[in-house]
Amino acid sequence: MSLPYTLLIDPLAADDATSATAGTFREIDASAPALRVGELSTQRGDGIFETIAVVDGHVQESEPHLARLVRSAEICDLPVPNLRQWRAAIAFAREQVPAEGELAMKLVLSRGVEHGPAPTAWLSVNAASDSTDARTKGIRVVTLDRGYDHGVAERAPWLLLGAKTLSYAINMAALREAHRRGADDTIFVTSDGYVMEGPTSSVIARIDGVFVTPKPSGSILAGTTQASLFEHIREHDFPVAERDITVEELRRADAVWLVSSVRLAAPVVDLDGVPLALDAEANAAFTRYLLSPRD
Ligand code: PLP
Repeated sequence: MSLPYTLLIDPLAADDATSATAGTFREIDASAPALRVGELSTQRGDGIFETIAVVDGHVQESEPHLARLVRSAEICDLPVPNLRQWRAAIAFAREQVPAEGELAMKLVLSRGVEHGPAPTAWLSVNAASDSTDARTKGIRVVTLDRGYDHGVAERAPWLLLGAKTLSYAINMAALREAHRRGADDTIFVTSDGYVMEGPTSSVIARIDGVFVTPKPSGSILAGTTQASLFEHIREHDFPVAERDITVEELRRADAVWLVSSVRLAAPVVDLDGVPLALDAEANAAFTRYLLSPRD
């Protein structure tokens, strides 16, 4: 077995409870052509995805990821995924890939082939990039204007900002801009000065002793890592809050993290050129928890 390990999935209808799932996906050679030229995921970025961490053979929080895949499908008017089938494909792939180390499992559901009847779906598992430095030494971050104000999601739901769509060209452009400015990553802010998210991560800040994250809204992605971490923090009797956060508040935070499924918690040690403290104890506890088997 070589990585990326890939399964091509023949998507079942969401309400198909009778078909056997075995035989509805098959292993393919990731280095050989697999998609048609008319595929709308490649032509238009018209599809959705999830990236799930696999740590020492354990698929982390697969259910919250599947729930978000369903939510993204609904937002994008895509056929709702058959969860029985996706669970079977995830379990099958997990058995085939190395049982040690950190891997990234990607689920993709696209609108399919232009003028074709069916959606296209696949799952691939690859080695995770090494995030040790980001987790332990931290990252430098610049804020970048997302170009939208705070109320954009209600006014323009067709921007699909709350869905995890395949259209990440803007997110990648923002990362390149951050690199040009000498930083490792960025935090998007609204044009009227509120904190949103990173291009591939959610923002958590500790402000006046409270762990806060931007209130879930249609304009940012609901992060599975943030939700998991907040549950963990709450269990340890520290206060958490989901609320609007202004950029000024972020600048006076005691600590800030960018959190996501594979890189996990990356402490921000420099925000727009101003050093930020790294809370080594909280940081180590976050990484320990996020690397532990989670469901
Ligand atoms: N926000 C965006 C735009 C993302 O792309 C991601 C993950 O890739 C996240 C937030 C964090 O989500 P999760 O913690 O579920 O990986």
